[in-house]
Amino acid sequence: MAAQVLEPTVYTPRARRVARPYVMFDKATLFEALPLDAASVVADRVVDLTATDVRTASGVTIKAGIVIDARGLPAPGRRPAAWAHGIFVDADRAAPFVAPGECILVDWREQNGATNDDPPSFLYAVPIGDGTVLFEEVCQGIPGGLSQRELRRRVVNRLVANRVKLTGNEEAESCHYALDQPPPRRRRGGQAFPYGSRGGLMHPCTGYSVAASLRMADTVVEALIEGIDPGRRLWTERARAVYWMRMRGLAGIGRLTNEQSAATFDAFFRAPLRQNQALLSSHDDVTGIGAVLVNTVHHTWPFRWRFDLVGWTNRKRWVR
Ligand SMILES: Cc1cc2nc3c(=O)[nH]c(=O)nc-3n(C[C@H](O)[C@H](O)[C@H](O)COP(=O)(O)OP(=O)(O)OC[C@H]3O[C@@H](n4cnc5c(N)ncnc54)[C@H](O)[C@@H]3O)c2cc1C
Repeated sequence: MAAQVLEPTVYTPRARRVARPYVMFDKATLFEALPLDAASVVADRVVDLTATDVRTASGVTIKAGIVIDARGLPAPGRRPAAWAHGIFVDADRAAPFVAPGECILVDWREQNGATNDDPPSFLYAVPIGDGTVLFEEVCQGIPGGLSQRELRRRVVNRLVANRVKLTGNEEAESCHYALDQPPPRRRRGGQAFPYGSRGGLMHPCTGYSVAASLRMADTVVEALIEGIDPGRRLWTERARAVYWMRMRGLAGIGRLTNEQSAATFDAFFRAPLRQNQALLSSHDDVTGIGAVLVNTVHHTWPFRWRFDLVGWTNRKRWVR
């Protein structure tokens, strides 16, 4: 573990604590904890794969009882996606905004220089355990997204508004990735079994997949040991229904203004923790996620904004 924050903060736009720890992994320690001693590693690029064969760039073909495709996400193209620009700031300099031991999961305060007529974006700010805090401006689910230049302008505006002085030598990162990678089809024919973000475990509303992929690995292995298709075990009807509802959440987020986003996230974070957890983390809690979606729409205020959220009005607000 690189860092842990016991009660992350959200701004919607009022400040709220989420009574659920947020953990940043240390990649080197994670690799050590998952030894590959019993595995043969072939370092190569896959150019083609089926349910039982993998062909690599150097011309090798490897045969297997089952091929698990964990190649991550394909290029997003024009699919619903996240666009993000992050700046790594020394923790000392970041302290006026994010004090030691703190993090911000979402910040919808109007501090990024955008107006309510611009596509919205929020800030995510976490200590990553190497003495820096990552400040990342994220535009999620908005058709067409935002340019890196605009996202950088917004995150710098927030840093200035919160008295963080940059040296100009800070490292930065740029990201653009799809959010709607679906679960595998019920009948895959001769295709490999997709797993991780490749196989529907990336959460469409948060863009997170790491905890889900680690948690579900045993389910897949147990199914394989029992001779059952892992897709049947992992992607039950309930799990598929949860994925479908999360996609409704992503579609809703993608048509809101900044003010509406803040109001919707506020309604969401007011819900009981179990409902929050159902949306954020549960793989198959249909009742919990149904309840939180209804609750969020029901508590979004002013009343007419609910129509935008469910797509009755302004369905194509940001389509260009
Ligand atoms: C800025 C940012 C912040 C994020 N924050 C979080 C977070 O806080 N929590 C969270 O859970 N998630 C977060 N995510 C998302 C998370 O990083 C991804 O969901 C996760 O890395 C996906 O893991 P994966 O193993 O499925 O795929 P990847 O991490 O993409 O791994 C796929 C691997 O397959 C390899 N590969 C691809 N194609 C081939 C090929 N043809 N042949 C051989 N190898 C190949 C790649 O090189 C790579 O090593 C964040 C993402 C970004 C960009």
